[in-house]
Amino acid sequence: MIVYGPVPSRRLGQSIGINNIPPKTCSYSCIYCQLGRTDKMLTVRREFYKPEDIYYEAQGKLKQLEADNKHADYFSFVPDGEPTLDKNLGSEISMLKSFDIQIAVISNASLIWMDTVKEDLMKADWVSVSIDAVNDDIGRKINRPHRSLQHEAILNGIIEFSKAFKGTLVTETMLVDAINDNSACIEEIAEQLALINPSKAYILVPTRPPAENTAKRPSKDSLVNAVRTIRSITGVDTECITGDEKEEDFFFTDDIASDLLSIASVHPIREDIVDELLKKKIADKTIITELLEQGKIIEFWYEGKKFYKKNIRTENTNGDIS
Ligand code: SF4
Repeated sequence: MIVYGPVPSRRLGQSIGINNIPPKTCSYSCIYCQLGRTDKMLTVRREFYKPEDIYYEAQGKLKQLEADNKHADYFSFVPDGEPTLDKNLGSEISMLKSFDIQIAVISNASLIWMDTVKEDLMKADWVSVSIDAVNDDIGRKINRPHRSLQHEAILNGIIEFSKAFKGTLVTETMLVDAINDNSACIEEIAEQLALINPSKAYILVPTRPPAENTAKRPSKDSLVNAVRTIRSITGVDTECITGDEKEEDFFFTDDIASDLLSIASVHPIREDIVDELLKKKIADKTIITELLEQGKIIEFWYEGKKFYKKNIRTENTNGDIS
């Protein structure tokens, strides 16, 4: 399944996900990654899927939505790895644009120093880039990048891209307790954001089972300080997303199993939210038991709460559940 959803998203409305990268293929191995540690560290762009296959899957998804009388606001490249590692990203965006739906890409920006990556991202309507640290040592601690990557080149690449990009550029900064949430680090990030001038700066916190248990969410005081500092230094609209989803943030159609897999493809979902959704659809938990037995989802405990997430280890290289 390369094309999934739609998944409701606070930032992008009803968003059809494009999973253009096989599980955990990334240039980073962030300590907060909710997909676990990176198996395949890559910095060389390559082909993973044929653009036509993505196009036809997307077309099928839109037909299905039309038949169900539903709509989509965005195609979002939010894969199980770094989307710009896909050397066909630009052609995929161009092909999907023929459906007249906006295109979003959420990137860690690690390859944005490459001209080809900038050119591909330029075709999207909405791009999110990550800036978790300006200091190289802190960046290495939190993102654990491929050893060939140069932090300064990435930061300069983001600035260059921001000057030329005509669409909506937003930034994401994941704050991790005792790593990048101190005032000095936040001020450096804010000064960097001032050079980029994004439409919006998002502050995120680790809320789901992260790759490393040491990646804890910062205190409320740190978050308040971060939002205040970024707003005052940059004048940019800044929002903190704590990830404390509520049941009304999601919905199930009559195909509950597919809906659950779609949501869990993007991020783990808490058990109490699933329970509420099942109650609404007058369904019992048999569906969850079956998905667990089939190995399509796995359960996790994090901060005293049970979560379900897609079991990416059972996927083959085509991204299909085997
Ligand atoms: S959080 Fe994103 S950038 Fe970091 S390792 Fe996971 S997939 Fe890669």
